[in-house]
Amino acid sequence: MTTFDELQDLDREAIIGTYARLPAWFVRGEGARLWDHEGAEYLDFLTGISVSSVGHCHPKVVEAIREQAGTLIHTSNLFYTEPMVRLAQRLRANSLGGRVFFTNSGAEAVEAALKLARRAKRGGDIVVVHGGFHGRTYGALSATPQESKQEPFAPLVPGFTAVPPTVDAVNHAVTENTAAVLVEPIQGESGVHPIPVEVLRAAREACDVHGAALIFDEIQTGLARTGALWAWHDLGVEPDAMTTAKALGGGLPIGALVTNGGFEEVFQAGDHGSTFAGGPVPCAAALAVLDIVEDPALHERVKALGARLKAGLETLPRVTTVRQRGLMVGFDVEAVKAPDVVRNALVEQRLVANATGPSTIRLLPPLIVGEQEIDSALDRLAAVLT
Ligand SMILES: *Cc1c(COP(=O)(O)O)cnc(C)c1O
Repeated sequence: MTTFDELQDLDREAIIGTYARLPAWFVRGEGARLWDHEGAEYLDFLTGISVSSVGHCHPKVVEAIREQAGTLIHTSNLFYTEPMVRLAQRLRANSLGGRVFFTNSGAEAVEAALKLARRAKRGGDIVVVHGGFHGRTYGALSATPQESKQEPFAPLVPGFTAVPPTVDAVNHAVTENTAAVLVEPIQGESGVHPIPVEVLRAAREACDVHGAALIFDEIQTGLARTGALWAWHDLGVEPDAMTTAKALGGGLPIGALVTNGGFEEVFQAGDHGSTFAGGPVPCAAALAVLDIVEDPALHERVKALGARLKAGLETLPRVTTVRQRGLMVGFDVEAVKAPDVVRNALVEQRLVANATGPSTIRLLPPLIVGEQEIDSALDRLAAVLT
């Protein structure tokens, strides 16, 4: 039997050190709970960064994966498979009505969106927003205007312009040479910062005037996280294309670029591709996830639970600002370091959360979380912050 110390040593020896790991070794999950190697139970208010949104090992997701894994795991995009087609039909019907390109991750969905926009405009600039995050591959990284992430990997892909989230900046940046504006309606990795709706509206208008594509990155905000199936459903601004990933596969790797009807003929056979993307097992899992997250009753519940969590956070010591849309919550703390709070919450209170910066903590509980679990998480945070 391996001890936790041994596992940490083996990890350090064999895994390239790109992740600053927190001291927990999880072996099992169910609903909003995780269990570690010693059987200790944790409340999971991070859900693998909004991946396990329907809860760990949701029975319908597990059943869909088991059934598909025992039938057919992989063929190739050289052939037709049914789960992929059914999933694409569901995604277009619940969003933008056009066609879908499947990927294995969020960054790859962003890459597909960037390639589509440049192919449609025969080149052109991509306008992105300060503080945004779109992934770690070269195109997605070039769209992520954060010095610490970009600088060590220069030179990046050319043709990206980063602007602050203001109407004037967007109007100034979008020109006839713009291929796309790429933006998260609510920035996740930067600590849950909603983009003002008038900025999204200005981007919509500027894209219409200049023939550019408005692309929403809904990788973190989508699939009912904010209390709407897609965040833009509540904003009154419709993009031309959007990316999704994270929660889509219920824990299996899958992402997608979803378009409206304006891009039907842009990509031709051979223009883009992926060996694994749209495989039967992740698509079967995603169909089960959609059965759960498309339910309007869940959306109402997510809004109510999010409001409860926000109200509770606002009463805690050392908490300054709380930013919340549905169950996507970021809050700032003073006189303590957010990474220390997160570590103490994990070790002392068995609450899983995440620090997105030196003074910002993010909570992304499962959408199936209960009132009592919300209250328990608040008690655990109070114990760490007091
Ligand atoms: C997580 C995330 C990505 C990157 O997704 P990966 O699956 O890690 O490649 C891109 N955009 C947003 C908004 C994200 O939250």
